[in-house]
Amino acid sequence: MKRNSRAIGSVVMAVLAVAAAWTLRTGLDLWTAPPSVTEGETRPASTAAPTATPRPAPVQAPPQQPVPAATATPAPSPSPTPDPVDETPEGWMLRLVKPDCPLPEDFTVELAKVAGGQFDARAAGELERMLADAKAAGCELRLVCGYRDTARQQNLYEQKKRQLEAAGMAPARAADEAARWTPPGGCSEHNLGLGADLLPADGINAEALAWLEAHAAEYGFIRRYTEECEKETGMAPMSWHYRYVGHTAAARITEQGVCLEEYREDLGQYGGR
Ligand SMILES: [Zn+2]
Repeated sequence: MKRNSRAIGSVVMAVLAVAAAWTLRTGLDLWTAPPSVTEGETRPASTAAPTATPRPAPVQAPPQQPVPAATATPAPSPSPTPDPVDETPEGWMLRLVKPDCPLPEDFTVELAKVAGGQFDARAAGELERMLADAKAAGCELRLVCGYRDTARQQNLYEQKKRQLEAAGMAPARAADEAARWTPPGGCSEHNLGLGADLLPADGINAEALAWLEAHAAEYGFIRRYTEECEKETGMAPMSWHYRYVGHTAAARITEQGVCLEEYREDLGQYGGR
């Protein structure tokens, strides 16, 4: 069933994310590392094709990883930001941004500073509330990347494309493959200000990503690039990339196991919202 495979995929991605976090800790730039071009040699586990793994063992923290203190009572966080009413396919919360759906060149967004970066000011409060609650639950997360400007995005894309070509990939294929991981400038949800890359703060606490997957919708976020939605999103599955879509959409998307693309198409069935 879809929800079962989604759950299994989630466990796989949690394992991969821990490996990704380890890669970060060891000084490599995850966002510029080639995904899967080095067949035959050691490659970051974060980029292994998840479909190659049959049924993964349950995620367990490494032995040296201290168990998060579960005795502390999480401090109640401030009330959630009222759900904005602009939940339409044309609205800011559900806006699609991807390689075949770039932002206009004159796009601007009001940003707010958050720990680890910047985020759309209308959703920054919910991001902070989510991170505070995760920390209180013993699952501290770190914002690795929030908003990223278009020029920086384009640089990362070109850098990745060059790496893939240097590894022997034909230019056309390298362009496509690079875009699946780091889209060109103006084509990333990080340029929109509503994409957040989140990893365990200590780099290895797999429970932190499990907490995120279980609770993100309560704060208006979804895990955007899942295995199940790869065809719709055109992006490689990423356990660390979350997208703010608002509370209503996040609850429905998560509950139904659908993609943002599908949700937008089906908006009519929810009374035209
Ligand atoms: Zn991301």
